[in-house]
Amino acid sequence: MKLPIFLDNHSTTPMDPRVLEAMLPYFVEKFGNAASRNHAFGWEAEEAVENARKQIAKLIHADSKEIVFTSGATESDNLALKGVIEMYHEKGNHIITSTTEHRAVLDTAKSLETKGKATVTYLSVDKYGMVNPEDVRKAITDKTVLISIMLANNEIGTINPVKEIGKIAKEKGILFHCDATQGVGKIPVNVQEMGIDLMSFSAHKIYGPKGIGVLYVRKKAPRVRIAAQMDGGGHERGMRSGTLAVPLIVGFGRACEICEQEMDAEGRKLAAMRDRLQAGIMKALEETYLNGHPTQRLPHNLNISFAYVEGESLLMGLKEIALSSGSACTSATLEPSYVLRALGVGSDLAHSSIRFGLGRFNTDEQVDYTIKRMIEIVTRLREMSPLYEMAKEGVDLKSVQWAAH
Ligand SMILES: *Cc1c(COP(=O)(O)O)cnc(C)c1O
Repeated sequence: MKLPIFLDNHSTTPMDPRVLEAMLPYFVEKFGNAASRNHAFGWEAEEAVENARKQIAKLIHADSKEIVFTSGATESDNLALKGVIEMYHEKGNHIITSTTEHRAVLDTAKSLETKGKATVTYLSVDKYGMVNPEDVRKAITDKTVLISIMLANNEIGTINPVKEIGKIAKEKGILFHCDATQGVGKIPVNVQEMGIDLMSFSAHKIYGPKGIGVLYVRKKAPRVRIAAQMDGGGHERGMRSGTLAVPLIVGFGRACEICEQEMDAEGRKLAAMRDRLQAGIMKALEETYLNGHPTQRLPHNLNISFAYVEGESLLMGLKEIALSSGSACTSATLEPSYVLRALGVGSDLAHSSIRFGLGRFNTDEQVDYTIKRMIEIVTRLREMSPLYEMAKEGVDLKSVQWAAH
């Protein structure tokens, strides 16, 4: 078995060789600009882009005219929030979102707030990280123009009741944006059934290339309008100017096609692997806690807190497995994960959490190796931990008076 093992598929995914194969001709041979309307080079590029648009639209049950290409989900989130606030400022300026959204949504909302362009309600989530649709309903005011709630969380994998939220948005005539970056290609997504008006996702989370994303923008019932955030040639129906990255778009299309064909089988395979990983670790080690929803979560996600163990120390001792800790996300600072904190997980357990992200190219052998190594390292770190020793001796750690220094 080759080391290191990649178990961080929520941060990015390796590209599928079939995707690369589809992309290759579009770098050198077929290099045309899809906006060149008057020669064969342009027509060839445009045809490839339109084909990719269809493949992408099919995966989410949209029309290919509703696909707007961006540089990634971060840009899509920015375009959705800023574009709606700017376009509908006469109607209102209130956004409803949640505390566990990705930074691309939260920081955009904060930025709009700081500049005085929007007021934002940040809904709290339950202990599993789920948004309550009734909380969304209660937060709506006559100034609300946008609801932005993610499909599935990137740390804990919890899947939100998006369909119910979409229904409320429709009832009230408010636009619904969904950051579906972790869900698209992994679980069924249907923008019609889910009542989604705008949706962000990205190729590199589904075995496609980095640097290409989509903002789905509903064309009818209702026809959604957004103010462009990039001025230029008026590409993408005026919503996002800039020469299209044809090879990346072709790769994105192929990646969606593969997901569409293999998602069901792949989801079952990954869920089985994930369940084995979870059982293997949690049965062998006491005081381990699952973060996120026990059932309503992404098939390839597992997030566990290992009491008395520092997540970062754990990862230091485990260099041959690529994982992510609940303190590493905002890497420069060692803040505990704001997502786990929003679930009510204490700062200690948040710091001791590890996210496992399985993917298309992981094997059972890698899972077995990971179980074995996790048990070894957690056991060793706990043996060295005075806190763990005290807890084992029955000392109530909360009652300890620590000496000041
Ligand atoms: C990765 C991710 C993003 C950012 O996507 P990029 O394409 O890397 O900009 C946004 N939202 C969620 C939920 C993500 O997981």
